[in-house]
Amino acid sequence: MSTVRRPPGSAALLSDGTTVTIRPIAPADRRAVLALHAERMSDESRRLRFLGASRRAAGLTADRLCGPAREDGFALGAWAADDLVGEADYEVLDAAAGTAELALAVADAWQHRGVGTLLLEHLVHAAREHGLAAFEADTLAGNRAVHRVFTDLGLPVHRRYEQGEVHVRVPLAESDEHYRRAVDERGRAADVASLAALLHPASVAVVGASRRPGSVGQSVLRKIRDGGFTGRVWAVNPHAPQVAGEPAHPAVAALPTVPDLAVLAVPAAAVPTAAEECGRAGVRALVVLTSGLDAQQARQLTDSCRRHSMRLVGPNSLGIAVTDPRVRLDAEFGGAFPLPGTAGVAVQSGGVGIALLERLAWLGIGVSSFVSLGDKYDVSGNDLLQWWESDGHTDLALLHLESFGNPRAFARTARRVTRSLPVLTVDAGRSAAGRRGAASHTAAAATPTVTREALFRQAGITAARSVAELVETAALLHTQPLPAARGAVAVVSNAGGIGILAADACADAGLALPDLPADLSARLLDLLPAGASAANPVDTTAAVRPDQLRDCLEALEQSDAVDALMVCLVPTALSAEPEGGLLRALIDGGARRRTPVAVVRLGQQVPVSRLHTADGLLPAYADPRSAAVALAHARERSRWLARPVGTEVDVPGCDPAAARRIVADHLADHPAGGWLDPSSTAALLACYGLPLTTGVWARDRQAAVVAARALRRDGHDRRAVLKAYWPDQVHKSAAGAVRTGLRTDREVRDAYREFTAAFGGRMAGAVVQPMAAPGVELLVGLVQDRVFGPLVVLGLGGTATEVLDDRAARLAPLTDLDLPEMVAALRAAELLAGRLGSPPVDLPGLHRILAGLSRMAGDLPQVVEADLNPVIARPDGVLCVDARIRVEPRHPFDPYLRRLRRPQGLPEEES
Ligand code: ADP
Ligand code: MG
Repeated sequence: MSTVRRPPGSAALLSDGTTVTIRPIAPADRRAVLALHAERMSDESRRLRFLGASRRAAGLTADRLCGPAREDGFALGAWAADDLVGEADYEVLDAAAGTAELALAVADAWQHRGVGTLLLEHLVHAAREHGLAAFEADTLAGNRAVHRVFTDLGLPVHRRYEQGEVHVRVPLAESDEHYRRAVDERGRAADVASLAALLHPASVAVVGASRRPGSVGQSVLRKIRDGGFTGRVWAVNPHAPQVAGEPAHPAVAALPTVPDLAVLAVPAAAVPTAAEECGRAGVRALVVLTSGLDAQQARQLTDSCRRHSMRLVGPNSLGIAVTDPRVRLDAEFGGAFPLPGTAGVAVQSGGVGIALLERLAWLGIGVSSFVSLGDKYDVSGNDLLQWWESDGHTDLALLHLESFGNPRAFARTARRVTRSLPVLTVDAGRSAAGRRGAASHTAAAATPTVTREALFRQAGITAARSVAELVETAALLHTQPLPAARGAVAVVSNAGGIGILAADACADAGLALPDLPADLSARLLDLLPAGASAANPVDTTAAVRPDQLRDCLEALEQSDAVDALMVCLVPTALSAEPEGGLLRALIDGGARRRTPVAVVRLGQQVPVSRLHTADGLLPAYADPRSAAVALAHARERSRWLARPVGTEVDVPGCDPAAARRIVADHLADHPAGGWLDPSSTAALLACYGLPLTTGVWARDRQAAVVAARALRRDGHDRRAVLKAYWPDQVHKSAAGAVRTGLRTDREVRDAYREFTAAFGGRMAGAVVQPMAAPGVELLVGLVQDRVFGPLVVLGLGGTATEVLDDRAARLAPLTDLDLPEMVAALRAAELLAGRLGSPPVDLPGLHRILAGLSRMAGDLPQVVEADLNPVIARPDGVLCVDARIRVEPRHPFDPYLRRLRRPQGLPEEES
């Protein structure tokens, strides 16, 4: 291991799923650069590289890339273990025009694996950070490989042909949805490729399979063998010649072939060595069952995985199971082999996992793959969603996780995956106490429940409030078609009382029970016994016969007024059969169903079960509330699918490069981060076109008087506002640090004097503003949620904002559809839309503020909190009079930049 200090790197996946490390090239890398250019590239590929690279000899290239850090150039390398396998760099050509010359080189053995594209993505990111506007490069006309790299990249490419050379220009404009989609798609393909060794392995080694019967390692070994794994399985144990009747091998390196996957069941202290040995031998994926790793062991484990390109499940995992008949892998030590089927299941806690699998099996919901993620150092919910999206047979995803992986990638991944399959999760850790529990192994969410529901909905995820609700909803989604988006429910019961309970349950779940059309009601009355009621709920009376019930249900199903049916049956004394034989009406039920049906059997012992019918399964619930909640989730999904996708909002004319400089400058002076001072805050808001009122900084009383005089002259109502300022202040008005409506020099002078008396030495000065015209005071803000990533928040503002508690939050990036929806989600929406007698406020202006913050969230992960409160909204415009922005040091992390996330709970890699 070298001790030379190198800049931090980030791990990322090539198109074939191999992990490489991308990091800036440093002076210490000279030898590696020479080796790449002189030894790992043939003359032919050197000739075909960009002319910028090929014209220079290897030594010159090394000099250029490995000199001291420069302002006018930047070089990134892709490393596989200690080998430099590719390099991309730029050199600024014209600083004023923001152009740079690009060069790229990939070792022969590593070509066609996406090294070039990955390096370019990261270089594009770096160039944008440095404020560049375009890359330029010269290539030979016949250089197909390089041309393909450019075309694949997804950025617009302008080409100019000149005497056998092609001059290429790649503009680096940000907010390019086409480019982001291309990056997303490459990320998905690479992720899926990397997970194949884990979820579709041809061979598995169990490391630490001990001779002791009942030990974790031995049970996993037995289960893999007895479960009918289609590949080869080996036991690795240096101390035993044989485990569970199988020959044991002393080391992974001693196995007849390299296993794709290794399951580690060794003590925590032995995990780092075992992982490193697996990596050296060429294993591609690890499942670590061991728990209780300390920080150093954890770091060594992840380092080995990254260096040797292994995906990692765990530690503290219960294992994985894959039921695909081509695999049939049961590598977990919990319950029974899951019932084969089409649901993908991922859990954090093994215990919940076993319980969930049992309940699903009982309902006949089979599993395609089951992964117990444990402490989630690497493989996360995001990864599995992408696997299931692509594996060809998973049609339902069930998650019990406290977070999904990289929160900044979550919003995009979830919004895409949920278009093709329902994703159900338990909203775990939504209470404060629950969050404390969750915080012990993963980060917690700081977002209140109401908002969390909206966020899940925005991502297309069905969030259940409990494991029971998850299972009950899965039972409906797994067997029934989705209701039409309107979600009109008809309730049918053979006892009036339960019909009323069901109607109430539907109302509580937000489902509508419409009146039935007159002709339908008349028909039902014809079909049903005397005394029946054909309003909604329909009461068939206890005297109804099975054939009458069947005809009634058919009539309802065929009606356009009904989108879903809830059929509630209670036992009757009229027949010895369950529910008086009425179940037969459902079981023999008519034609293939287009309308979803949920059955409620009040006498049922278990919360949810299934009925086998002529053409499939029906979910049966003991409580109408469960049925109603499941139907409401199904309706919500239907609505979500019907909703147009929307396009990410664009913010023309913003200046992210300047914004990044402001943040970087603040962090250079305050390495721990903190609140920006008033002038940096104003400058940063200006970068995104966010309208902040004029503020003049006054260091003393006289300066304040002069400033106020000028502002009063230009201001709207000839009054000024004075605000005392000191670093890290929180609520100014609560502390008495805001004076509004100051009309005269004397009033300003007095106010300043009172500030000095009250705040003394801690006051650094004051901000003088013109008095803004009154309007609706709103709060517009940005927070970073540890589960959901950046959120844009809108609410009623001013000093009473907490009391009013009227807020809506949405995942950034916002789409054009999110903007009006956010406004409409407020209780105060009427106030803004001008329906309460006053004219509407400037909604386009408000939308622009929301869009600007969304864009800021995407550009600046260091902004952990931005609080514009109030934004005064009026018919003639929107204006912010108070803004606070808090930054924290972070790796600039383009949400669209492909790289593996850092293990949670571990310090950043450079430290
Ligand atoms: P803080 O939020 O720290 O208490 P603000 O600067 O938001 O301080 O001021 C508190 C309240 O004073 C605002 O909600 C607003 O009603 C009023 N206010 C502040 N600045 C102005 C201004 N320039 N024009 C009009 N009203 C203002
Ligand atoms: Mg305020």
